[in-house]
Amino acid sequence: MGANVTDKVVVITGGSRGIGRATALAAAARGFRVVVGYASNEAAANEVVTEIERKNGKAVAVKCDVAEESDILALFKAADQFGTLGALVNNGGIVGQSGVRVDEMSAERIQRVMAVNVTGSILCAREAVKRMSTKHGGKGGVIVNLSSVAARLGAPNTYVDYAASKGAVDSFTVGLGHEVAGEGIRVAAIRPGLIDTEIHAAGGEPDRAHRLAHMVPMQRVGTAEEIANAIVWLMSDDASYVTSAILDVSGGR
Ligand code: NAP
Repeated sequence: MGANVTDKVVVITGGSRGIGRATALAAAARGFRVVVGYASNEAAANEVVTEIERKNGKAVAVKCDVAEESDILALFKAADQFGTLGALVNNGGIVGQSGVRVDEMSAERIQRVMAVNVTGSILCAREAVKRMSTKHGGKGGVIVNLSSVAARLGAPNTYVDYAASKGAVDSFTVGLGHEVAGEGIRVAAIRPGLIDTEIHAAGGEPDRAHRLAHMVPMQRVGTAEEIANAIVWLMSDDASYVTSAILDVSGGR
Protein backbone atom coordinates (compact mmCIF):
# COMPACT_ATOMS: atom_id res chain seq x y z
CA MET A 1 0.00 0.00 0.00
CA GLY A 2 1.54 3.35 -1.04
CA ALA A 3 1.98 6.36 1.21
CA ASN A 4 -1.13 8.05 -0.14
CA VAL A 5 -3.42 5.05 -0.11
CA THR A 6 -5.40 4.21 2.99
CA ASP A 7 -8.38 2.16 4.02
CA LYS A 8 -9.30 4.50 6.84
CA VAL A 9 -12.58 6.32 7.18
CA VAL A 10 -13.06 9.98 6.32
CA VAL A 11 -16.08 11.90 7.56
CA ILE A 12 -17.04 14.72 5.19
CA THR A 13 -19.78 17.06 6.36
CA GLY A 14 -21.77 18.41 3.43
CA GLY A 15 -20.36 15.68 1.21
CA SER A 16 -23.46 15.65 -0.97
CA ARG A 17 -22.75 18.65 -3.20
CA GLY A 18 -20.09 21.11 -4.34
CA ILE A 19 -16.66 20.97 -2.72
CA GLY A 20 -17.72 18.22 -0.32
CA ARG A 21 -18.90 16.02 -3.18
CA ALA A 22 -15.65 16.52 -5.11
CA THR A 23 -13.69 15.75 -1.94
CA ALA A 24 -15.69 12.56 -1.33
CA LEU A 25 -14.87 11.31 -4.84
CA ALA A 26 -11.19 12.28 -4.56
CA ALA A 27 -10.83 10.68 -1.13
CA ALA A 28 -12.51 7.47 -2.30
CA ALA A 29 -10.09 7.34 -5.26
CA ARG A 30 -7.27 7.32 -2.70
CA GLY A 31 -8.82 4.43 -0.80
CA PHE A 32 -10.68 6.22 1.97
CA ARG A 33 -14.01 4.77 3.08
CA VAL A 34 -16.21 7.85 2.90
CA VAL A 35 -18.97 8.92 5.26
CA VAL A 36 -20.95 11.38 3.17
CA GLY A 37 -22.77 13.78 5.50
CA TYR A 38 -25.69 15.76 4.14
CA ALA A 39 -28.10 18.28 5.63
CA SER A 40 -31.26 17.62 3.60
CA ASN A 41 -30.43 16.58 0.03
CA GLU A 42 -30.58 12.81 0.46
CA ALA A 43 -30.77 12.20 -3.30
CA ALA A 44 -27.52 14.09 -3.91
CA ALA A 45 -25.78 12.21 -1.08
CA ASN A 46 -26.99 8.86 -2.42
CA GLU A 47 -25.72 9.80 -5.88
CA VAL A 48 -22.24 10.42 -4.43
CA VAL A 49 -22.33 7.01 -2.70
CA THR A 50 -23.45 5.31 -5.94
CA GLU A 51 -20.67 7.05 -7.88
CA ILE A 52 -18.05 5.89 -5.36
CA GLU A 53 -19.39 2.32 -5.29
CA ARG A 54 -19.44 2.24 -9.11
CA LYS A 55 -15.66 2.62 -8.91
CA ASN A 56 -15.43 -0.13 -6.26
CA GLY A 57 -15.02 2.33 -3.40
CA LYS A 58 -16.84 2.27 -0.06
CA ALA A 59 -19.20 5.01 1.07
CA VAL A 60 -22.28 5.60 3.17
CA ALA A 61 -24.63 8.59 3.32
CA VAL A 62 -25.63 9.92 6.74
CA LYS A 63 -28.00 12.80 7.43
CA CYS A 64 -26.29 15.40 9.61
CA ASP A 65 -27.22 19.02 10.11
CA VAL A 66 -24.07 20.15 11.91
CA ALA A 67 -26.11 22.69 13.87
CA GLU A 68 -27.63 19.70 15.69
CA GLU A 69 -25.32 18.01 18.19
CA SER A 70 -27.43 14.83 18.12
CA ASP A 71 -26.94 14.61 14.33
CA ILE A 72 -23.17 14.95 14.81
CA LEU A 73 -23.13 12.14 17.36
CA ALA A 74 -25.08 9.94 14.94
CA LEU A 75 -22.68 10.82 12.11
CA PHE A 76 -19.65 9.68 14.09
CA LYS A 77 -21.47 6.59 15.34
CA ALA A 78 -22.01 5.63 11.70
CA ALA A 79 -18.32 6.30 11.05
CA ASP A 80 -17.35 3.98 13.94
CA GLN A 81 -19.35 1.20 12.33
CA PHE A 82 -17.58 1.80 9.02
CA GLY A 83 -13.96 1.43 10.21
CA THR A 84 -11.14 3.40 11.82
CA LEU A 85 -11.48 7.15 11.53
CA GLY A 86 -8.48 8.72 9.79
CA ALA A 87 -9.77 12.12 8.72
CA LEU A 88 -12.51 14.71 9.13
CA VAL A 89 -13.33 17.34 6.53
CA ASN A 90 -15.35 20.13 8.13
CA ASN A 91 -16.92 21.23 4.86
CA GLY A 92 -20.65 21.75 5.46
CA GLY A 93 -21.23 25.48 5.47
CA ILE A 94 -23.78 28.15 4.64
CA VAL A 95 -24.06 31.80 3.70
CA GLY A 96 -26.98 34.08 4.51
CA GLN A 97 -28.68 36.19 1.85
CA SER A 98 -25.97 38.06 -0.08
CA GLY A 99 -25.98 41.88 -0.05
CA VAL A 100 -27.31 42.32 3.49
CA ARG A 101 -25.42 44.90 5.57
CA VAL A 102 -24.70 44.36 9.26
CA ASP A 103 -27.21 47.09 10.19
CA GLU A 104 -29.91 45.02 8.48
CA MET A 105 -29.04 41.56 9.85
CA SER A 106 -31.38 39.54 12.05
CA ALA A 107 -30.11 37.76 15.13
CA GLU A 108 -31.54 34.50 13.77
CA ARG A 109 -29.49 34.73 10.59
CA ILE A 110 -26.24 35.45 12.44
CA GLN A 111 -26.89 32.66 14.95
CA ARG A 112 -27.61 30.16 12.18
CA VAL A 113 -24.42 31.02 10.27
CA MET A 114 -22.35 30.71 13.44
CA ALA A 115 -24.11 27.50 14.54
CA VAL A 116 -23.38 25.75 11.23
CA ASN A 117 -20.01 27.18 10.25
CA VAL A 118 -18.37 27.58 13.66
CA THR A 119 -20.06 25.53 16.41
CA GLY A 120 -20.73 22.65 14.02
CA SER A 121 -17.08 22.51 12.95
CA ILE A 122 -15.84 22.61 16.53
CA LEU A 123 -18.24 19.87 17.66
CA CYS A 124 -17.29 17.63 14.72
CA ALA A 125 -13.61 18.20 15.54
CA ARG A 126 -14.33 17.26 19.17
CA GLU A 127 -15.74 13.92 18.05
CA ALA A 128 -12.83 13.34 15.66
CA VAL A 129 -10.19 14.15 18.29
CA LYS A 130 -11.84 11.75 20.75
CA ARG A 131 -11.37 8.99 18.20
CA MET A 132 -8.05 9.90 16.54
CA SER A 133 -5.92 11.29 19.39
CA THR A 134 -3.20 8.96 20.65
CA LYS A 135 -4.08 10.38 24.07
CA HIS A 136 -7.41 8.58 23.77
CA GLY A 137 -5.91 5.39 22.30
CA GLY A 138 -6.43 6.48 18.69
CA LYS A 139 -4.02 6.13 15.78
CA GLY A 140 -3.83 9.81 14.77
CA GLY A 141 -5.40 11.53 11.79
CA VAL A 142 -6.10 14.76 9.97
CA ILE A 143 -8.74 17.46 10.30
CA VAL A 144 -9.28 19.81 7.36
CA ASN A 145 -11.50 22.83 7.94
CA LEU A 146 -13.12 24.79 5.12
CA SER A 147 -12.49 28.48 5.69
CA SER A 148 -12.76 31.13 2.96
CA VAL A 149 -10.81 34.07 1.60
CA ALA A 150 -13.75 36.00 3.08
CA ALA A 151 -11.96 35.56 6.43
CA ARG A 152 -9.26 37.93 5.05
CA LEU A 153 -11.45 40.16 2.89
CA GLY A 154 -14.35 40.59 5.33
CA ALA A 155 -17.06 40.37 2.62
CA PRO A 156 -18.36 43.94 3.16
CA ASN A 157 -21.86 44.59 1.77
CA THR A 158 -22.11 40.87 0.97
CA TYR A 159 -22.10 38.72 4.13
CA VAL A 160 -19.85 39.99 6.90
CA ASP A 161 -21.34 37.43 9.30
CA TYR A 162 -20.13 34.62 7.03
CA ALA A 163 -16.66 36.21 6.80
CA ALA A 164 -16.53 36.45 10.60
CA SER A 165 -17.53 32.79 10.91
CA LYS A 166 -14.63 31.82 8.65
CA GLY A 167 -12.26 34.04 10.66
CA ALA A 168 -13.29 31.92 13.63
CA VAL A 169 -12.55 28.76 11.63
CA ASP A 170 -9.02 30.09 10.98
CA SER A 171 -8.39 30.77 14.68
CA PHE A 172 -9.82 27.38 15.59
CA THR A 173 -7.52 25.68 13.08
CA VAL A 174 -4.40 27.25 14.56
CA GLY A 175 -5.42 26.63 18.16
CA LEU A 176 -6.66 23.06 17.78
CA GLY A 177 -3.62 22.22 15.65
CA HIS A 178 -1.33 23.24 18.51
CA GLU A 179 -3.51 21.47 21.07
CA VAL A 180 -3.26 18.06 19.38
CA ALA A 181 0.09 18.35 17.56
CA GLY A 182 1.69 15.90 20.00
CA GLU A 183 -1.21 13.44 19.69
CA GLY A 184 -0.82 12.36 16.06
CA ILE A 185 -3.41 14.75 14.66
CA ARG A 186 -2.71 17.43 12.05
CA VAL A 187 -5.19 20.27 11.61
CA ALA A 188 -5.27 22.57 8.59
CA ALA A 189 -7.67 24.86 6.79
CA ILE A 190 -8.25 25.69 3.15
CA ARG A 191 -9.38 29.15 2.17
CA PRO A 192 -11.14 28.75 -1.20
CA GLY A 193 -11.67 31.79 -3.38
CA LEU A 194 -14.54 32.04 -5.87
CA ILE A 195 -15.52 28.45 -6.57
CA ASP A 196 -18.21 27.37 -9.01
CA THR A 197 -20.77 25.69 -6.73
CA GLU A 198 -24.40 26.18 -5.72
CA ILE A 199 -23.52 28.12 -2.57
CA HIS A 200 -23.81 31.39 -4.50
CA ALA A 201 -27.37 30.52 -5.54
CA ALA A 202 -28.11 29.69 -1.90
CA GLY A 203 -27.04 33.27 -1.07
CA GLY A 204 -29.46 34.56 -3.72
CA GLU A 205 -26.79 35.34 -6.33
CA PRO A 206 -26.24 32.31 -8.61
CA ASP A 207 -23.98 34.30 -10.93
CA ARG A 208 -21.75 35.74 -8.16
CA ALA A 209 -18.61 33.71 -8.81
CA HIS A 210 -18.60 34.36 -12.57
CA ARG A 211 -19.53 38.05 -12.12
CA LEU A 212 -16.49 38.60 -9.89
CA ALA A 213 -14.07 36.38 -11.84
CA HIS A 214 -12.34 39.43 -13.35
CA MET A 215 -11.17 40.41 -9.83
CA VAL A 216 -9.23 37.16 -9.48
CA PRO A 217 -5.55 37.52 -10.52
CA MET A 218 -5.92 34.27 -12.51
CA GLN A 219 -9.05 35.79 -14.14
CA ARG A 220 -11.29 32.78 -13.56
CA VAL A 221 -13.37 30.97 -10.96
CA GLY A 222 -12.06 27.78 -9.41
CA THR A 223 -13.62 24.34 -9.55
CA ALA A 224 -14.71 22.14 -6.66
CA GLU A 225 -12.14 19.60 -7.86
CA GLU A 226 -9.31 22.13 -7.47
CA ILE A 227 -10.28 22.56 -3.81
CA ALA A 228 -10.72 18.81 -3.33
CA ASN A 229 -7.20 18.21 -4.67
CA ALA A 230 -5.77 20.49 -1.97
CA ILE A 231 -7.90 18.84 0.73
CA VAL A 232 -6.81 15.30 -0.13
CA TRP A 233 -3.19 16.48 -0.27
CA LEU A 234 -3.55 17.81 3.29
CA MET A 235 -5.09 14.46 4.27
CA SER A 236 -2.15 12.55 2.80
CA ASP A 237 1.26 11.70 4.23
CA ASP A 238 2.74 14.08 1.66
CA ALA A 239 1.58 16.83 4.05
CA SER A 240 3.06 15.09 7.11
CA TYR A 241 4.73 18.27 8.46
CA VAL A 242 1.75 20.57 7.83
CA THR A 243 -0.33 21.54 10.84
CA SER A 244 -2.01 24.68 12.22
CA ALA A 245 -1.66 25.90 8.62
CA ILE A 246 -4.09 27.80 6.40
CA LEU A 247 -3.77 27.39 2.65
CA ASP A 248 -5.31 29.84 0.16
CA VAL A 249 -6.62 28.09 -2.97
CA SER A 250 -8.01 31.12 -4.69
CA GLY A 251 -6.26 31.89 -7.96
CA GLY A 252 -4.35 34.63 -6.11
CA ARG A 253 -7.41 36.45 -4.75
P1 NAP B 1 -22.62 24.11 -1.54
O1 NAP B 1 -22.39 23.77 -2.97
O2 NAP B 1 -23.72 25.05 -1.18
O3 NAP B 1 -22.81 22.74 -0.74
C1 NAP B 1 -23.01 22.83 0.63
C2 NAP B 1 -22.90 21.46 1.25
O4 NAP B 1 -23.01 21.64 2.67
C3 NAP B 1 -24.03 20.54 0.83
O5 NAP B 1 -23.55 19.22 0.80
C4 NAP B 1 -25.04 20.73 1.96
O6 NAP B 1 -25.86 19.58 2.18
C5 NAP B 1 -24.13 20.94 3.14
N1 NAP B 1 -24.77 21.69 4.21
C6 NAP B 1 -25.54 22.81 4.14
N2 NAP B 1 -25.99 23.15 5.36
C7 NAP B 1 -25.50 22.22 6.21
C8 NAP B 1 -25.66 21.98 7.59
N3 NAP B 1 -26.42 22.78 8.36
N4 NAP B 1 -25.05 20.90 8.13
C9 NAP B 1 -24.31 20.07 7.37
N5 NAP B 1 -24.13 20.23 6.06
C10 NAP B 1 -24.72 21.29 5.49
O7 NAP B 1 -21.30 24.72 -0.86
P2 NAP B 1 -19.76 24.70 -1.34
O8 NAP B 1 -19.53 25.89 -2.20
O9 NAP B 1 -19.38 23.37 -1.80
O10 NAP B 1 -19.07 25.04 0.06
C11 NAP B 1 -18.44 24.06 0.86
C12 NAP B 1 -17.60 24.77 1.91
O11 NAP B 1 -16.63 25.59 1.25
C13 NAP B 1 -18.39 25.70 2.82
O12 NAP B 1 -17.88 25.62 4.13
C14 NAP B 1 -18.12 27.06 2.24
O13 NAP B 1 -18.25 28.08 3.19
C15 NAP B 1 -16.70 26.91 1.74
N6 NAP B 1 -16.35 27.87 0.69
C16 NAP B 1 -16.96 27.85 -0.53
C17 NAP B 1 -16.62 28.80 -1.48
C18 NAP B 1 -17.24 28.87 -2.85
O14 NAP B 1 -16.99 29.85 -3.58
N7 NAP B 1 -18.03 27.91 -3.25
C19 NAP B 1 -15.65 29.76 -1.17
C20 NAP B 1 -15.05 29.74 0.08
C21 NAP B 1 -15.41 28.79 0.99
P3 NAP B 1 -27.22 19.34 1.34
O15 NAP B 1 -26.79 18.85 -0.03
O16 NAP B 1 -27.95 18.31 2.10
O17 NAP B 1 -27.93 20.65 1.28
